[in-house]
Amino acid sequence: MKVHAAIRCQLLALVATTLGLLSSTGCHVLSPAHIPARPQYIAPELLNDSSSQVEFGEPHKVLDTAGWIWGIPDKILLWDHRVDNHQITAPTVETVASYLDENNLPHVKVRVNQYAPLQDFHRLRQNKTVAWPYRYTLGLLSVGGETILPGRFFGGDHFNPYTQTVHLYSDVPAIALHELAHAKDFTRRRYQGTYALAYMFFPTWHETIASRDVMAHLYDRHDRAGIIEANRIQYPAYGTYVAGTASWFIPGGGTALYYGCVIAGHANGRMLSRDVDQHLADYHQMFRSQPVPHQSVPAISQPDMSVPVPEPQPMWDESQLNPPRVSQAASNESPASNMH
Ligand SMILES: [Zn+2]
Repeated sequence: MKVHAAIRCQLLALVATTLGLLSSTGCHVLSPAHIPARPQYIAPELLNDSSSQVEFGEPHKVLDTAGWIWGIPDKILLWDHRVDNHQITAPTVETVASYLDENNLPHVKVRVNQYAPLQDFHRLRQNKTVAWPYRYTLGLLSVGGETILPGRFFGGDHFNPYTQTVHLYSDVPAIALHELAHAKDFTRRRYQGTYALAYMFFPTWHETIASRDVMAHLYDRHDRAGIIEANRIQYPAYGTYVAGTASWFIPGGGTALYYGCVIAGHANGRMLSRDVDQHLADYHQMFRSQPVPHQSVPAISQPDMSVPVPEPQPMWDESQLNPPRVSQAASNESPASNMH
């Protein structure tokens, strides 16, 4: 017990020191960096889906309220009431549609507060860019988990690489972008099953790549409010992964380490947002002096090019969308915990 107490004291001292350092500078570990647009490895079968790319679950007052309550700890962790609120509004959906379109991700399904395990098992079978030994072990487990512990109640925004499906339960654009960035990242990997396996051991690698792409997406648009929101959300969420990795080396860290990293993330994100205008100016100055090729629509590397390309169709059925409410994405709140 004494050893544990000593370790915890040291950890708290470490966290306090880190917070002190962050409060004076701010660590830009998630600086903007695009995920390369090509190559892309897409299962042609996923392109033949005749349903909308963005689908919505039917609103259910009792179930959604219960899910909102269940999500309170995550709301607190990321300090945003929109986390796992099970009521996604137009601004978030429009952010999703814009990202999907601009990054050429026609094979990615987005389920907005929707429970559709049968369709997801079907997508698992279709997604042949993931080798079958992965799909019928880890993939089956992942879809089975989504079936038994439905996010429709338990929340937990995430991207499932085995089905190429993003599941959203939070009305936070930064979270939606983050999950979509994971989809973009996986799509460029030739060995997507192996990359998914690697996530189980080194998630910080994948998380860094996705988070930086979100930042680049927002910086490109001069989206000041979006950057502030992403700083507020992504850094504490990133802290949970840093804590997971750090716990390998500090096994006695426990909850002190976990919450210390989350708090450090909150502090860091807010610190960076204080200088957001300067960061924006620096970013665009850099690209003015060193132009980067625009991310044009890439050619799709398909295993079987004989598969016909489906007719373009609306990305979602607008009649299913919750009526938009006034966005409260002001600069001093935060959301999103379950970023995978
Ligand atoms: Zn993530």
